[in-house]
Amino acid sequence: MELKEKAFKSVSRKNHPGDTAVDIGGGVKIGGGSFTVIAGPCSVESEEQIIGIAESVKKSGAHALRGGAFKPRSSPYAFQGLRALGMEYLLEAKRATGLPIVTEIMNIAHLGLFADVDVIQVGARNMQNFELLKELGRTDKPILLKRGLANTVQELLMSAEYIMSEGNSRVILCERGIRTFENVTRNTLDLSCIPIIKEASHLPVIVDPSHATGIARFVAPMSYASVAAGADGLIIEVHNDPENALCDGDQSILPSEFGVITDKIKKMTELFNKKYDAAE
Ligand code: PEP
Ligand code: MN
Repeated sequence: MELKEKAFKSVSRKNHPGDTAVDIGGGVKIGGGSFTVIAGPCSVESEEQIIGIAESVKKSGAHALRGGAFKPRSSPYAFQGLRALGMEYLLEAKRATGLPIVTEIMNIAHLGLFADVDVIQVGARNMQNFELLKELGRTDKPILLKRGLANTVQELLMSAEYIMSEGNSRVILCERGIRTFENVTRNTLDLSCIPIIKEASHLPVIVDPSHATGIARFVAPMSYASVAAGADGLIIEVHNDPENALCDGDQSILPSEFGVITDKIKKMTELFNKKYDAAE
């Protein structure tokens, strides 16, 4: 099966042979030869939690901080995120550490709250929310577009095209695992999509090994495999107390475990011709 490349205009490498680097602020770029690591908890739980984790992942070489304030949960009774208050805590963590912040938007009506956010994440469940994509295409914010749970590479690239067709070319793609018959892991990490996307598109692609596996001890091996597959970076869930995390504790690693991963990745990136310039 081939990609239908004629359907792509802006995302296509044919129209833009060089790799795109997306500047996310704080001296951090995603793509264009850099290797960029985004780390932080699944969700912002308190001011102390997000600032504490931000400080420790920064020490271990993270380039940006993640943390959800608006959470897409399967159950309406599960923790939905701290919402506007979570955004405030995230901004506090940005001020405290200087790390650019990445957080998910679920409703375009919330866009006003994202004014000082560095990267707006479109989660897997909204990858084909075309009206949301078009609105984000009218902003000048970097957009982290996650692959849908049951979406093809073609569909992921078409969703990126939606954003770019409205004028915003600052798109970062993210492979976060897809649903298959395999149920030993939360999802199945489709690493072969990395070289496929790199061939078809100039956009940067990062990997989320946390949602892909759903199991903390498999985050490290899949992170290393992502470097080898040619990814431009990683987004990893890190929590100071995974057992008591309000969301995704099973897949969250400790800051100390995160440090082991970044130490190895710094060495690997040399071999794979990427630059890991941590904001240390
Ligand atoms: C997340 O990043 O916490 C998240 C909900 O991811 P995804 O949309 O990939 O499931
Ligand atoms: Mn999560």
